[in-house]
Amino acid sequence: MAVDPIEKKPLFHYRPGEDILSIGFVGCNMDCPFCQNWQISRTTAAANGFVPPEKIAEKALELGLKQIAYTYSEPLVHAEYVMDCMAAARSLGIAGALVTNGCFNEEAAAEIIPLADAANIDLKCFSEYNYRNTLKGSLPAVKNFIRAAFGKIHTEITTLIVPGFNDSEQETDACIDFIASVSSGIPWHITAYHPAYKWTAAPAKAETILRIKERAEKKLLYCYTGNINDNNNSTFCVECGAELVTRDGYNIKIRGLVKNGKSDNTYRCKRCGAATAVKY
Ligand code: SF4
Repeated sequence: MAVDPIEKKPLFHYRPGEDILSIGFVGCNMDCPFCQNWQISRTTAAANGFVPPEKIAEKALELGLKQIAYTYSEPLVHAEYVMDCMAAARSLGIAGALVTNGCFNEEAAAEIIPLADAANIDLKCFSEYNYRNTLKGSLPAVKNFIRAAFGKIHTEITTLIVPGFNDSEQETDACIDFIASVSSGIPWHITAYHPAYKWTAAPAKAETILRIKERAEKKLLYCYTGNINDNNNSTFCVECGAELVTRDGYNIKIRGLVKNGKSDNTYRCKRCGAATAVKY
């Protein structure tokens, strides 16, 4: 359990600049050979004992936090527990954010998603063969999960770029096309892999990540990088180009947003008045 900036999940358009209570879990239903959290995803030994769901919600309240992330490895291995946590937190006015590989069947997704408020879902590659054989997951299940989440809860997508595995133009363009087919407004986080677990290839280069971002920006409105030095990760108004949210690492400044109404969680651009994709 830790308190993180919400941008670390990463969630860039949901409550930017706020902290989030983050709960980690042991185990995972996939087995990515480059897992960046393998110390917890490949074990069944939890560092702490059972914590009742209502205690987690109370902890968030005690810390003055309005949101909880279920994150680090794969929270939905413990779906029933996460659902109990999200329900307990919601009864106290605390939002729930899933950071998930999305590799769950439609029946599970239909039960879980309505209890969440936001999700960052991994789209690890666009090859069914590699999803099944290398990652021990299912591309069709992930695509369905993304489609099921979008429109119901705030949705962002992350792809970890692993050189030689998913960094070809063909593969990344297929990811871009799929995201655009759901919505060009879904924020896409393109993050750089570092050697971990069984994968020893060199880290993804910054220029590879930036090249993919440049191509993605032709079809997607909001593309962000991760794990590289990039001073261009701010959020801009799609109508007038004003800087809405300035990001310098985890130093976040809300510059160009105006709330739409007292009981409204949406914001408009301070300069031109256009609707923005940022929600609180
Ligand atoms: S889905 Fe995530 S936590 Fe699970 S093995 Fe893959 S990278 Fe690790």
